[in-house]
Amino acid sequence: MLTLNRNRRDVVVVGGRVAGSAAAMLLARLGHDVVVVDQASFPSDTVSTHSIARSGVVQLRRWGLLDAVLDSGAPAIRQVTFHADGESVSRTVSQKAGVDLVVAPRRYVLDAILATAAQRAGADMRDGVTVTGVRRDRRGRVAGVYGHDRGGAPIDIGARYVIGADGLRSRVARSVGATINEARPPGGATQYAYYAGPWTGMEFFVAERSFAGVFPTHDGQACIWVCSPSADAQAARRTAGSREGAFGELLERSAPELSERLRYARRTSPVQGMLRMPNQVSQASGPGWALVGDAGYHRDAITAHGISDAFRDAELLAAAVDQALGAGREESTALARYQQQRDQALTEIFEITCRLGAYPAVAEFIELQKQLSAAIDKEAAELASWPVPGDRLLATA
Ligand SMILES: Cc1cc2nc3c(=O)[nH]c(=O)nc-3n(C[C@H](O)[C@H](O)[C@H](O)COP(=O)(O)OP(=O)(O)OC[C@H]3O[C@@H](n4cnc5c(N)ncnc54)[C@H](O)[C@@H]3O)c2cc1C
Repeated sequence: MLTLNRNRRDVVVVGGRVAGSAAAMLLARLGHDVVVVDQASFPSDTVSTHSIARSGVVQLRRWGLLDAVLDSGAPAIRQVTFHADGESVSRTVSQKAGVDLVVAPRRYVLDAILATAAQRAGADMRDGVTVTGVRRDRRGRVAGVYGHDRGGAPIDIGARYVIGADGLRSRVARSVGATINEARPPGGATQYAYYAGPWTGMEFFVAERSFAGVFPTHDGQACIWVCSPSADAQAARRTAGSREGAFGELLERSAPELSERLRYARRTSPVQGMLRMPNQVSQASGPGWALVGDAGYHRDAITAHGISDAFRDAELLAAAVDQALGAGREESTALARYQQQRDQALTEIFEITCRLGAYPAVAEFIELQKQLSAAIDKEAAELASWPVPGDRLLATA
């Protein structure tokens, strides 16, 4: 058995994408001994569109990663156009909270940038490792994880804290018995595909029971997506007979003008997506463990806010674990504060997400979009005011 617990680690993070790598990077910058395991290999893609809201861009800038994202070829997006009721309104992304752009990097690029940053900060990154459970000490406290590598060899890692950043179907959450504290009706469907460009700005199309759009990304391509109630997506699949046919049908209904433009564009990927996206908030921590990212809080993709949520909560969690690992070892206070801060931070946008995911009439949908935009700006301003974790240590390194 490969035993990585000879010298027990400070933290083992399960899942190395936006939540896990961000938390690992911040904890390593704070001087902790961190190992990240992921069953996937990197760079690799995951099912997700990838617009990063202003609040997420603020986090990338504060952590010193925004230049790497832009240098990867993800275009800085400075123009956003809303189309509804036959009218189009374009605006320039204003300068707020220190940023004047949004960006939509492909996940295989973004996740690799974060994993590399975590590694540079000193985190030990191990891919191809599947965690199958947590182990506990004699008092029942979580004290590590076990699983196997790609070849099936067993792996056992001891750690003072286990962070589950392993996504919606989190094995860590199930193993520790995390409760779901709030469950709203499941959300809708989001489906997407990539099309060759050129594409200039971000676009949104609002129609009855649907929301569609354009996220310009690498290599002149765009992620074209459509959100709808799950029942509508399922009905379209039944009538069209294929994912691609159903996607075309939904787009035609939601955004005929975009659909017309796509007739002359080359689709460069298959159609992917997810139906019935859960809207739920789970218990965030317990003795020796914590959850971050989709593992602890999942929402309908209609507000495209999961990456930004993961970034915000990774920083809240890193601060809490840093405090718990410190001399005072105020674990229960620090982790309870993490849950309280996370729940307070997510409330407004979660509420808007659930209301948008119920597809109200177009006028109300547009009003909710305005509320979303204000809530994101408020969150971005708040994040921009936080001290950057590990800044002092980096400056003296
Ligand atoms: C269709 C769709 C569109 C979306 N669009 C957007 C958008 O435009 N903007 C936005 O901000 N958000 C969007 N989201 C949400 C966003 O994708 C998620 O919130 C985000 O990926 C969560 O990141 P994470 O790191 O928590 O989890 P994940 O990205 O799910 O990563 C979890 C990692 O854990 C690993 N793992 C899982 N189980 C184990 C195990 N047992 N052992 C070891 N490793 C394990 C996996 O391999 C994976 O690498 C979208 C989601 C969907 C489904």
